[in-house]
Amino acid sequence: MKASAFAYARATSVANVLELLSAYGERAKVLSGGQSLLPAMNLRLIAPELVVDIGELGELRGIAVKGSVITIGALTRHADLLKSSEIAAHAPLLKDAVAHVAHPAIRNRGTIGGSLAQADPASELPACMLTLGATIVVCGPGGERRIAAREFFSGIYETALTPQDLLVAVELPVTPRTSTHFFHEFARRHGDYAIVGLAAQAVVTDGRFADLRLGFFAVGDRPLLAMSASRLVGVSITPAVLSEACTALDAELDPPEDQQATSAMRRHLAKVLLTRCVSSLLARPDLCAGASA
Ligand SMILES: Cc1cc2nc3c(=O)[nH]c(=O)nc-3n(C[C@H](O)[C@H](O)[C@H](O)COP(=O)(O)OP(=O)(O)OC[C@H]3O[C@@H](n4cnc5c(N)ncnc54)[C@H](O)[C@@H]3O)c2cc1C
Repeated sequence: MKASAFAYARATSVANVLELLSAYGERAKVLSGGQSLLPAMNLRLIAPELVVDIGELGELRGIAVKGSVITIGALTRHADLLKSSEIAAHAPLLKDAVAHVAHPAIRNRGTIGGSLAQADPASELPACMLTLGATIVVCGPGGERRIAAREFFSGIYETALTPQDLLVAVELPVTPRTSTHFFHEFARRHGDYAIVGLAAQAVVTDGRFADLRLGFFAVGDRPLLAMSASRLVGVSITPAVLSEACTALDAELDPPEDQQATSAMRRHLAKVLLTRCVSSLLARPDLCAGASA
């Protein structure tokens, strides 16, 4: 199938985008890498009257580190993140995660702004934003808004963006040198959307977690920053403590059932990931060996 007829505008500036989005509202769609928008249009799941191509807005592309903040422009492509020495040095979790987003051809076009605006609950990058404590920078008719990642994702393909808003950048705190991370997802093939995934970051001191952030994806209608992580912080981790954390995690999940997996399968896999994550971050293979998950 091919998309319904639509008008096309190549935006000349952020102000020009906002003008067009204000005029058209829900009848317009922003085009970044097109890797989600164009398939949806071709399948006629959506039929915008106007497509606003922001691809020429160079000011929205790039990665800059200033002090303790990394700013990533919305048009920065997945492939740029993957090869960036700044991301490797200051947000290594993100680098590991991007390697699991689709395939090279898609990573060469798809952008971080597009991925976050799309808000697919099975996507890697939204969960990373929660784990890393990102701020999403948005321009709209009322000016600039800065939205904490935990407030940004509101449902399946739903975010705090209004039809008049443009996501312009993402800000991440530089990962402390004492941090360590874990990224893993279960997928049918490398590059497929995850069945369940976990992006975690931690500070480990004397064999205990001083800090632990667990960003799960494909376990509900939006990425989940698991509160059950707090049960593992500051305590000696035994199989019993880990098992209690798995039970607490289970209560936080609301996994969908689809052709990839049942809800029960996703619950099981999330607990397997939590166990592997804790075992890996603490370098305690005994925790995996003893796990019933
Ligand atoms: C075969 C295939 C496999 C894939 N596998 C994965 C995967 O494993 N993991 C994964 O995370 N993704 C996957 N994707 C999606 C891919 O990562 C997309 O690149 C990404 O979801 C959207 O980025 P984009 O730049 O292409 O956005 P677009 O397709 O251009 O836009 C997506 C949506 O976001 C809106 N939008 C885009 N930019 C902005 C902005 N700056 N401000 C406001 N709204 C905006 C658009 O209007 C549209 O609604 C896959 C895609 C394909 C085709």
